[in-house]
Amino acid sequence: MRIYFDNAATTFPKPQSVIDAVTNCMQSYAINAGRGSYSEAIEAYQLINDCREKVKRLLGFQHGQVVFAPSATIALNQIILGLNWQKGDNVYITPFEHNAVARIVNQLRESIGIEIIEIPVVRETFEFDLELLKETFFKKPPKALIMAHVSNVFGLITPIREISILAKKYDAIIIVDGAQAGPLLPLNDEDVDFYIFSGHKTFYGPFGIAGFWHNNKFSLNPILFGGTGSHSELLEMPLDVPYRYEVGSHNIVAISGLSAACDWLKEIGPKNILLHELNLIKKLIGLLKDLQEITIFCNENNHTGILSFNVNGFTAQEVAMILSQQYGIAVRSGLHCAPLAHGFLGTMQHGTVRVGLSYFNTEEEIELFINSISELIEGY
Ligand code: PMP
Repeated sequence: MRIYFDNAATTFPKPQSVIDAVTNCMQSYAINAGRGSYSEAIEAYQLINDCREKVKRLLGFQHGQVVFAPSATIALNQIILGLNWQKGDNVYITPFEHNAVARIVNQLRESIGIEIIEIPVVRETFEFDLELLKETFFKKPPKALIMAHVSNVFGLITPIREISILAKKYDAIIIVDGAQAGPLLPLNDEDVDFYIFSGHKTFYGPFGIAGFWHNNKFSLNPILFGGTGSHSELLEMPLDVPYRYEVGSHNIVAISGLSAACDWLKEIGPKNILLHELNLIKKLIGLLKDLQEITIFCNENNHTGILSFNVNGFTAQEVAMILSQQYGIAVRSGLHCAPLAHGFLGTMQHGTVRVGLSYFNTEEEIELFINSISELIEGY
């Protein structure tokens, strides 16, 4: 592989300091934190708590608490299934939620009878229609909103703050799926109640570590049960958070990597990472627009470094296969686990070709990519 443009699936490569931290942890202190009183266990426990604080600050929050989970999907299950729902509750989602949200709310619709309502987005412009949303809230007051901060399909940024201001008039619970956003688009404590992050994506950390920040306003019923290393005499889950929601042994190896990733992010500056991605993607959009055979899916004023497109006459799978086999370029094709987004885009049949950029991509790679697409269009 010469060019990796599948960073929306997971960022790759990782910063060298992350790789070093993981290796060092495996060599020196990969022990079970919080389960012993010897010095290494205490140090590992300290590392976990320091990492919570680093994640919290990078996401922009001052108060509240970070709970670790093995993946964003598990964190979303813990939050959405951990809240109390009643038949007829109105739950608002964006029209482009990942299945990590869509399947859970669908399950609640089928089992409890919640109503799922889409936040209105204008198909032609990809703009959120906040006036219409206000009217819809009035007619169908929201119990909760569950929103991707950034679409994993076409990088559209959800205006969380503006929507949150409208929803808070109804005391709605605001849940933000930040798997493709944190810490690139920090928010404030007032904007959200639960914010889900993914260690292996925009945090540039390893797989196996993710979680959520919460402001302690809404308590969750645990949906996972087991050992926590604390209150072992109880058969019920302990009440103290975050341990109430963190079952089993902590993944200290992944957390040491995430902690190093947080240091790296702080040093580079998430703003600079986003700026780098935006510069590259602007260039990519400009060059793609020069090619006649391309349909681009994007709101050019409101996106991160993720873009979807299709090449007329080719399925998304054909484009991805040719790019991989002939040019050594890794992109993603298909529905990207977000069928709702393709219903919205009108690309349900074959999905789209997705480019996801990271801090490690370069202008030269964008130019090589465009040359490959031009050849593909001319040659077939
Ligand atoms: N939400 C969004 C917006 C995502 O893009 C993804 C991963 N593609 C997830 C949730 C789930 O993340 P994971 O597979 O790491 O649990």
